[in-house]
Amino acid sequence: MRALQYVEIGSPPRVVEVETPEPGPGEVRLKVSAAGVCHSDEFVMSLPAEAYTFGLPLTLGHEGAGTVDALGEGVTNVALGDSVAVYGPWGCGRCHACSRGAENSCPYAVELGIAPPGLGAPGAIAEYMIVDDVRHLVPLGDLDPVRNVSLTDAGLTPYHAIRTAMPKLVGGSTAVVIGAGGLGHVAIQILRALTGARVIALDVNDEKLALAKEVGAHEAVLSNDEAPEAIKRLTGGLGAEAVFDFVGAPATGAIAAASVALEGDVQLVGIGGGAVPVGFGVTPYDAAFRAPYWGTRSELIEVFEMARRDQLHVEIETYSLDEAPQAYERLHAGEIRGRAVVLPNG
Ligand code: NAD
Ligand code: ZN
Repeated sequence: MRALQYVEIGSPPRVVEVETPEPGPGEVRLKVSAAGVCHSDEFVMSLPAEAYTFGLPLTLGHEGAGTVDALGEGVTNVALGDSVAVYGPWGCGRCHACSRGAENSCPYAVELGIAPPGLGAPGAIAEYMIVDDVRHLVPLGDLDPVRNVSLTDAGLTPYHAIRTAMPKLVGGSTAVVIGAGGLGHVAIQILRALTGARVIALDVNDEKLALAKEVGAHEAVLSNDEAPEAIKRLTGGLGAEAVFDFVGAPATGAIAAASVALEGDVQLVGIGGGAVPVGFGVTPYDAAFRAPYWGTRSELIEVFEMARRDQLHVEIETYSLDEAPQAYERLHAGEIRGRAVVLPNG
């Protein structure tokens, strides 16, 4: 089969021919319908050799959907031909966190050598992929896999972040979304559907600001040194009850810390190398700072349910497997509108 692999540190990923994998006991093989292109892949491929821990060659793609194509020994509860999405943050399946469906918080995955597809295990940007356990499959039913595959990360991650901030997003409150890209443009829709907050979107790119407005942001503001002042102006001097930073760069972390209200929430979701100093007199009294990771299995089901009710959608650009390297080039250049989705089987 063909797959998009990161083969060599510092070189762009390429389409290669590899052996079609066979599912082992308990495993499921999917014929991939769609796979999303996430900025985290770009982060992974930017790491120097000393910091790179994902194995080579690495088949990319941690947002995957497909049809069940072959069953390993002993697999039940799923049938050939089922249309499914892959829950990506794989855990041990037995600990307290995994029992709650919070495999994103499994403390044992690393020591057991369990890694998400596309981030250690072979990923979804391939004609076929192996999923290690049926519990990592969520039935899609009548949901279009191409339009919805990216909800497995670009939907789930903002949903997980926003849910914990919801008690603060009461009537009359304000939420700031920094970075209206893949995750950010879904975050805006989740905020609009679940809260009464006024949503202020920030980006460095006018087209992304236009997209932010299109998907429901009340205000769109250029992301620069003056952004915190603009946010203060829009909130009567108080700041925002919640700030979600989907860039995570030093500059955006600083904007987040300078824009949050007393008792507000800052969530640093992006992994752009930023960090925010937190302390008494440094950040607003009682403001909470958090760097969340992906989301839980039950939250993924909730996100798909929201898509079914037309409460959110993903803006997509589609690519064939041969074009997948171009999708990464466009992602690097900040040119993707919404999410790039690869269709490995045409
Ligand atoms: P993306 O490339 O689709 O979107 C990033 C957006 O940020 C773009 O619209 C870009 O124009 C904008 N941007 C860049 N610099 C900016 C700045 N200084 N101020 C405001 N906006 C700016 O990326 P994505 O796939 O949505 O991922 C967003 C971030 O979240 C990445 O860092 C990614 O690695 C990270 N991520 C984290 C998790 C997690 O679990 N914590 C999960 C998925 C992705
Ligand atoms: Zn991702």
